[in-house]
Amino acid sequence: MKILVAVKRVVDYAVKVRVRPDRTGVETANIKMSMNPFCEIAVEEALRLREAGAAAEVVAATVGPAQSADTLRTALAMGADRAVHVLHDPDPARPFLPLAVAKILRAVALQEKPSLVILGKQAIDDDCNQTGQMLAGLLQWPQGTFASKVILDTEKQKATVEQEVDGGIETICLDLPAVITTDLRLNQPRYATLPNIMKAKSKVIKKIAPEDLGVDIRSDMEVIEVNEPPKRKAGVILSSVDELLDKLKNEARVL
Ligand code: AMP
Repeated sequence: MKILVAVKRVVDYAVKVRVRPDRTGVETANIKMSMNPFCEIAVEEALRLREAGAAAEVVAATVGPAQSADTLRTALAMGADRAVHVLHDPDPARPFLPLAVAKILRAVALQEKPSLVILGKQAIDDDCNQTGQMLAGLLQWPQGTFASKVILDTEKQKATVEQEVDGGIETICLDLPAVITTDLRLNQPRYATLPNIMKAKSKVIKKIAPEDLGVDIRSDMEVIEVNEPPKRKAGVILSSVDELLDKLKNEARVL
C-alpha cells in the first residue's frame, strides 16, 4: 500500500513576516523557508505507518516553484521513498488557491493511486485549512480531518482516525482510499540525520508541469493590496485596583 503526502514550502514559523514594499504580498526573498510544520507531521505519520508495516511506500508531493524541491529533499531526508514536484511559480497578485492545489493533488493521486493521502490540517502562510477537505471532495474519498491518532487496518482496508473535538475525542472509521489531515498532537516529527540527508540526494524527484496533468489552475482571486496590521498602542501600568476600576468606568466606560 502506498501513502501520498502533500508538503508545502512556507516562510519558516520563526520568521517575523514583512509586507513587500509594493504591497503585493509578504517578503520571501532572502527569507528562511521551511516545510510547513503540519506537513512535517504528515510525513512523520506516513513514515511511522510504513515502519509499522502498514504501508510499503511513501511518496511526497508538492506544488510550487523550483525552490520547493528543497522541501521535497527534506521529506526524502526524513525517509520518504520518492517525490513528485508539480512546478508552478504563481504571480503574487494571483495567489495559488487551495482549490487549484487540490485539483493538482487529485490528478497526482489518480496517477499514483495511493490508499491514503495525508496533508497538514493547514499551511501556516495562508492559514486556509481547505486543501485536504477539497481534495477529498474532488476525489469523492472519505476524509478524517485534524487527526490526533491514525490506525490502519490493511486487511479490512480501513483507517481509524481520532479527532479532538470540543469536549473530547471523536473516533471515526474510514474506508480506504481516504484523505487524512494532521493535527499538532498526532506525533513529534523526526529530524533528518546527516546520512539520510546524503541518501536523499540520490532519491528520485519527478517533475511535472500542471498542464501535463490537464488541470486548469487559473486563479479567480486577485490580491488588491497587503498591509501590515495597525501598530498596537503601548499599554500602561496602573498602581492599584482602584485606579483600574476608575479607568474602566471613566475612560473605557465599560463598567
Ligand atoms: P491549506 O489548505 O492551504 O491551509 O493547506 C493545508 C495542507 O494542504 C498543507 O498542510 C499541505 O499538506 C497541503 N498543501 C497546501 N498547499 C500545498 C502546495 N502548494 N503543495 C503541496 N501541498 C500543499
